[in-house]
Amino acid sequence: MDRSERERLRRRRRLLLKRLIAVEEFVRGSVVLMKRKCVRPRCRRCAEGEGHPTWVLTFSENGKTRTVYLGDKRAAEARRLVENYRRATEWLEEASRASLALLKAGPPTRKEADDAETR
Ligand SMILES: [Zn+2]
Repeated sequence: MDRSERERLRRRRRLLLKRLIAVEEFVRGSVVLMKRKCVRPRCRRCAEGEGHPTWVLTFSENGKTRTVYLGDKRAAEARRLVENYRRATEWLEEASRASLALLKAGPPTRKEADDAETR
């Protein structure tokens, strides 16, 4: 790997990590419409299997699926945070691939260092 490629990868990694920090607000999970059952006896909607659709955030924690009720008001905000999380993980993955490429290349060879000096 030549010096310019190393620099390109380092610059790319720095940019990705800046973006990651700038995102700031994110949450891991999925926003889904859940058909909730109510407590009312003989509820027609529940009896017909229609239930009461409610927006929820689901995510896994320690191997268990957890659910957080959102309602209509918080669903849009939750979708934004979930999308941010997806993008943040993409950037983190790409930064990791850049680090891996640099790691595999090892330290700059003597020739690369000499080439850089004469440039
Ligand atoms: Zn019901």
